[in-house]
Amino acid sequence: MSGTSPVLLWLRRDLRLSDHPALSAACGEGCPVIPVFILDDLADSLKAAPKWRLGLGLQAYDAALKARGSRLILRRGQALDCLRDLVSETGATAVYWSRLYDPESVARDVGVKSALKEQGIRARSFGGHLMFEPWTVQTRTGGFYKVFTPMWKAVTSIDVDPPMPEPGSIPAPENWPASENLGDWELQMGMNRGAEVVRPHVRLGEAAALDRLGDFTEDGIAEYREKRDFPAEDGTSGLSENLSLGEISPHRCWHAGLRARQDGKAGAETFLKELVWREFAYHLMHHTPRILTENWKPDWDAFPWCTDPEDPKVLAWKQGRTGIEFVDAAMRELYVTGRMHNRGRMIVASYLTKHLMCHWKIGLDWFADTLIDWDPASNAMGWQWSAGSGPDATPYFRVFNPVTQLDRFDRGCGYVRRWIAEGQSDPSETALSYFDAIPRHWGLSASDAYPEPVVTPEDGRAAALNAYENRDFQR
Ligand code: FAD
Repeated sequence: MSGTSPVLLWLRRDLRLSDHPALSAACGEGCPVIPVFILDDLADSLKAAPKWRLGLGLQAYDAALKARGSRLILRRGQALDCLRDLVSETGATAVYWSRLYDPESVARDVGVKSALKEQGIRARSFGGHLMFEPWTVQTRTGGFYKVFTPMWKAVTSIDVDPPMPEPGSIPAPENWPASENLGDWELQMGMNRGAEVVRPHVRLGEAAALDRLGDFTEDGIAEYREKRDFPAEDGTSGLSENLSLGEISPHRCWHAGLRARQDGKAGAETFLKELVWREFAYHLMHHTPRILTENWKPDWDAFPWCTDPEDPKVLAWKQGRTGIEFVDAAMRELYVTGRMHNRGRMIVASYLTKHLMCHWKIGLDWFADTLIDWDPASNAMGWQWSAGSGPDATPYFRVFNPVTQLDRFDRGCGYVRRWIAEGQSDPSETALSYFDAIPRHWGLSASDAYPEPVVTPEDGRAAALNAYENRDFQR
């Protein structure tokens, strides 16, 4: 195909210019390309922090396009209606996009594709968000993987496409269709915490993500295996927020990891494994979408979780006021930065679901509201793994003790001091910034006394194991 009929490039979680198969294919058609983002019900249903972060991502992406003589067209409404309107306004004969994998996006995209095709429009979806399409990775018996290690072994023999360069140019149409204004969408509205406090912690856009990957593989990756568990260290890539919005591709991260491994950098193999954990989460979501909403192991339905999100112990957990330092430090890191160290995520999830015996869905929802790197598949897998109800999960009887964990992973208390101001004579700026971020009605102050534990590690562990061993709940 070539000529003047444009291709619509429907963007969703692929806000990058390089290693973007759908964009490269569109530019390769030799006709104008019109990049479009649609605020449909699905995008609009994002919770506070991911929606705010999406707004920042769209702004940065539009700026990157403008620097190349293109721009982002914004429309609000049902995806199919908006695309049809744009087809009729621009004379476009093709619509390209990068695939998504959560069940709601899949249902929408299948409907859009068949309706556009019926209309004679070339509707094509491309890979890019994942390295391994979930249906292409199979066990020897043709099933899907429910345990990580065999999947890791299986995918290491598969070649991952090397990253594609940015297209030489993004041909612009003679006339641009009308666009809505990003500001009118008020994507920041749900952030009833100080967005200006969170903003300096955001690594925004493709260029920043590429820089970080470069720095990390140059300096950080060698010690990644040793340092990645210590939240006081800057020991991980920090790329999850960029991967979540597609500001960088997993393929690029993978090849950077491979090069580092070839160069003999010890932690590279562990980094590659973590990238495959992300793929594993998507693999599970594709094959068992119920992982997003139900206990993956249904016998957990009988477990006596507390399901009240307004319960005072849930509030204490959300506010970082459980009286358990590791938990509270991590919950405050989340509130101030929109991110949380992986060790922290495991500890706070274990404490909520085991010591406090609250349903993992309460934690899943809070993370979906507060994380700027929110990812449907990784979040669901992480929560069900921590609770014990998921595939390849930590056994219920292995209850993390947040106090001994602190001793192992924050021996110098650098992490705790960074995030907890109460009781410190000279609290750090980051610890104080928590009080600028929280809503006023929480009524908390840095001069408050640090609380006594809501549930001590010993009592929480005993209660959880007791419930686990209860005859009514057997697995
Ligand atoms: P690095 O250590 O540098 O790892 C590189 C990349 O590998 C990450 O960016 C991420 O894409 C992937 N990765 C690493 N660990 C995991 C993991 N355990 N599962 C899946 N992918 C992984 N990750 C999200 O991206 N979004 C979420 O919403 C999310 N929710 C989680 C909830 C819980 C309860 C738990 C236990 C984990 C969750 N994770 C989530 C996984 C993990 O904590 C983050 O991916 C990681 O902390 C991101 O930091 P990083 O980019 O520095 O990771």
